[in-house]
Amino acid sequence: MKRVTLLVPCYNEQEALPYFYAEICRVMASLENRYDFELLFINDGSKDNTLQLLREFAGKDKRVRIVDLSRNYGKEVGMLAGFDYSTGDCVITLDADLQEPPSVIPMMLAEWENGSCDVYGRRRMRRQSAAKKFSSRLYHKILSNVSDVDLSDDAGDFRLLDRKCVDALRSMRESQRYTKGMYAWIGYDKTPVDYDIAPRVAGTTKWTLPKLIHLAMDGLMAHSVLPLRLASYAGIIVSLGAFCYLIYVLIKTIIWGEPVAGYPSLMAVILFLGGFILLALGIIGEYIGRIFLETKQRPVYFINEVTPPSSGEDGMKDK
Ligand code: UDP
Ligand code: MG
Repeated sequence: MKRVTLLVPCYNEQEALPYFYAEICRVMASLENRYDFELLFINDGSKDNTLQLLREFAGKDKRVRIVDLSRNYGKEVGMLAGFDYSTGDCVITLDADLQEPPSVIPMMLAEWENGSCDVYGRRRMRRQSAAKKFSSRLYHKILSNVSDVDLSDDAGDFRLLDRKCVDALRSMRESQRYTKGMYAWIGYDKTPVDYDIAPRVAGTTKWTLPKLIHLAMDGLMAHSVLPLRLASYAGIIVSLGAFCYLIYVLIKTIIWGEPVAGYPSLMAVILFLGGFILLALGIIGEYIGRIFLETKQRPVYFINEVTPPSSGEDGMKDK
């Protein structure tokens, strides 16, 4: 029997978890005689009763395993921990808030049986504000165009990954992670399965605007050096312009002399260049910051406890 890991990163999900567990049990029951399930919860440093709840589940259900991280690392790192500790022949990642209906899982498994090693859930419709929809679409379009990864904004983290995809993702140990770009980067054929995204069953979203902006920056910087290149191109254009202007000023002065004037234009040029230099420095700084974080080569996360302790525990050590 093939083993399937259901990977669920949780951060302060005490309200949603009981619903989630009930629902996922229903789906697992319908597939019980075909697959051997592992329900792997990552507790991403929750400050509420999430861990106690998960322990309750684990107490009465042998399929449940919990990886308790030492603090809140964010969903991207949480998923990496999940990949490391998963023991299934495939891993299905889904959120704890039931926005991604577990009823789609049988369809994903069917695609997997047909030979697909990366089956992703494609949102048929998004329940979001027009502004968020627009910015998300724009961001994915830009990122797809400027980088070597092909992204669409209707694919989220709801995925089935074959063991070889999971191992590929595990080998990428960067700490500033943008998993969505990584799915595309590792390649392998991708098969979509459509689903309707539901509203959160309980609790509130764990993504704040700063967290989202941070993730967007990570995505752009991790998969593209275009900002750096743009800064150089703009530098070249500005210096060319400045050079032409210099020649013009020289000739003009030689022929007609120079009545002193031009304070406003001087200020304009200095302010423009100053702002531009700061921007370019900022872009370089962003990349250097990332280099700094990655060169420290720290482990991406630390584990507080794995329940129940098992062989998967050396997941992190062998990297
Ligand atoms: N999550 C996490 N760590 C975090 C933030 C979120 O593990 O720092 C989990 C969260 O518990 C949920 C999933 O990531 O299972 C998606 O979060 P959420 O539903 O809040 O995001 P949204 O659906 O609003 O984008
Ligand atoms: Mg959600």
